[in-house]
Amino acid sequence: MNYHILTLFPEMVLEGLNTSIIGRAVDKGLLSIEAVNIRDYTKEKHGHVDDAPYGGGAGMVMQAAPVCDAYEDLCRKLGKRPRVLYMTPQGRVFNQKIAKELSAEEDLVFLCGHYEGIDERALELIVTDCLSIGDYVLTGGELPAMVMIDCISRLVPGVLNNDVSAEIESFHDNLLEYPQYTRPEVYAGMRVPEVLLSGHHKNIETWRRQQSIKRTLERRPDLLAEANLSKKEQKYLEELRREQKKELSSIFENVLK
Ligand code: SAM
Repeated sequence: MNYHILTLFPEMVLEGLNTSIIGRAVDKGLLSIEAVNIRDYTKEKHGHVDDAPYGGGAGMVMQAAPVCDAYEDLCRKLGKRPRVLYMTPQGRVFNQKIAKELSAEEDLVFLCGHYEGIDERALELIVTDCLSIGDYVLTGGELPAMVMIDCISRLVPGVLNNDVSAEIESFHDNLLEYPQYTRPEVYAGMRVPEVLLSGHHKNIETWRRQQSIKRTLERRPDLLAEANLSKKEQKYLEELRREQKKELSSIFENVLK
């Protein structure tokens, strides 16, 4: 996977991404991360890449020409026109499913805006996908690009030591992950659940699936509509829902007393 980040702050993304698991994957040649400085493509003699918005209003807008020229130069060097992901709070909210889909690409371009954003004409000309990391506004697209690159990279074969771990994590099967424990067996008077010490793989797997379902019901019930559950697991979920209802109605009754 080759990432090309169009940004006004190359050092920010390079320093942020060249460490730990992602840094090691770069060293192994599984990933490449290139930052293209949009400022290198301005023809303005003072190096400006932004200007005041037409129609007035606060802030500055990044000009179309340096952005488009940076992308076209990249395409010439690569000999292809990769997908361009524009980081914007106005985009589709990024999630694990989108990450999985993007991990199949060979090259991805991340376009990072700054100030009030980028001249709409550049976006119309080169952007293929508008993506957001959530319903809040940041100062620039660099952090969103880093978040997405980190997430997509974990799905590239070989990046994680154990490929299985990406497959059974939160959001796999639309469920959150079960609770995890490591040594010691007792900490602050709390014991690791007995089943995890049993060595009985089938029971451990059943316990983990049930914990995932329980946790998802408690924390992100919205995910369950598309969860991939066996008949037995659906029954377990119905049981949990019945218990939840009972608890709620007893709380309600106590409040009314
Ligand atoms: N004026 C823009 C608007 O209201 O849609 C927001 C501009 S924001 C201050 C500057 C840049 O930060 C954007 O161009 C975008 O690249 C990035 N950005 C801010 N929030 C983001 C988010 N939630 N997800 C992805 N990118 C974001």
